[in-house]
Amino acid sequence: MQTIINTNDIKDLIIIGGGPAGVASGIYAARKKLSTVLVTDEIGGQSVVSEGIENWIGTIKISGTELAASLEKHLNAYKGDTVDVCKGECVTKMEHNDNIFQITLKSDRILRTRSVLVATGASRRKLNVVGAAQFENKGVTYCASCDGPLFSGQDVAVIGGGNAGFETAAQLLAYAKSVTLVHRRKEFRADPVTVAQLLKHPNMHTVTNVETIEVRGDKFVTGLIVKDRDTDHVTEISVTGIFVEIGVTPNTNFIKDILSQNETHHIQVDPRTQRASVEGVWAAGDCTDELYHQNSIAVGDAVKATEDLYHWIATRAKSKV
Ligand SMILES: Cc1cc2nc3c(=O)[nH]c(=O)nc-3n(C[C@H](O)[C@H](O)[C@H](O)COP(=O)(O)OP(=O)(O)OC[C@H]3O[C@@H](n4cnc5c(N)ncnc54)[C@H](O)[C@@H]3O)c2cc1C
Repeated sequence: MQTIINTNDIKDLIIIGGGPAGVASGIYAARKKLSTVLVTDEIGGQSVVSEGIENWIGTIKISGTELAASLEKHLNAYKGDTVDVCKGECVTKMEHNDNIFQITLKSDRILRTRSVLVATGASRRKLNVVGAAQFENKGVTYCASCDGPLFSGQDVAVIGGGNAGFETAAQLLAYAKSVTLVHRRKEFRADPVTVAQLLKHPNMHTVTNVETIEVRGDKFVTGLIVKDRDTDHVTEISVTGIFVEIGVTPNTNFIKDILSQNETHHIQVDPRTQRASVEGVWAAGDCTDELYHQNSIAVGDAVKATEDLYHWIATRAKSKV
């Protein structure tokens, strides 16, 4: 049965997501005394699994878990009596009627609000080849910092030549016997400094310009089959662990029928204000069609959105006086 929390209590703002974008908006909303609920599965966002973030401005190096803890501490210090944090929850539906948004949570509870900031970020893209689903958690994994130590002294592969792939390889080199990074293209997408640093490691190997076509194994993974994109030559790389870093997909399915999205399902926003296609809705961070996705960009865009929605709410309140 659905329960509407405080039926008469229509909030100024519901923030969906507790990554860097959602938390930044929560802090700004608190300081502006907007009545707000921040709904999220967890606080911290995607880089929580990172061992070392080196571009969080003002901090030379911080782990993902430390960053998550500091975001939560900052939010809790400022949330005061206007911002509620609803953790361990998930928004499943958003509806719109008479300038009021109705937000349904996983627990079937319902919240009502005048404005919404969508900051739901993105999730890892799954490897879609023969054997990948069958061997998930039996050698195929999506989290080096969670599962990496299980592969101590073993030969492992990382699929993906972007920053996440190289960061994963760096973590694994601390305990794996060897790391083979497999990439679709001839050139890597990761930062040249990171690539140059890792390629110097004696246990680091790369296989480029290949399509991954199959994960092989018996009870657990025993190998990865790749095909050269020019010659069609097929090779088996003998590994017991496969770490997949082939990008992310935005968490926007629950609002796909309401907000305009691009072909990759990122929410389309006005980059000056972060306004989405429906009046009263803003979006920020990795769920948007912003060209670059980084912690600091997510925070900046969320701040921009919260400034803009604050003025929007204030203007509407005045026009009703
Ligand atoms: C391994 C890794 C390492 C990275 N390293 C760096 C780095 O070194 N430097 C850097 O700048 N960037 C890094 N990034 C990128 C950075 O993490 C993202 O750009 C950033 O987290 C985006 O923040 P966000 O708030 O938009 O979304 P996210 O961090 O994805 O947070 C989204 C939040 O929304 C919640 N959520 C999702 N759907 C719902 C829903 N329906 N209802 C309620 N809550 C929901 C999630 O639980 C999560 O809390 C890294 C990413 C990864 C994966």
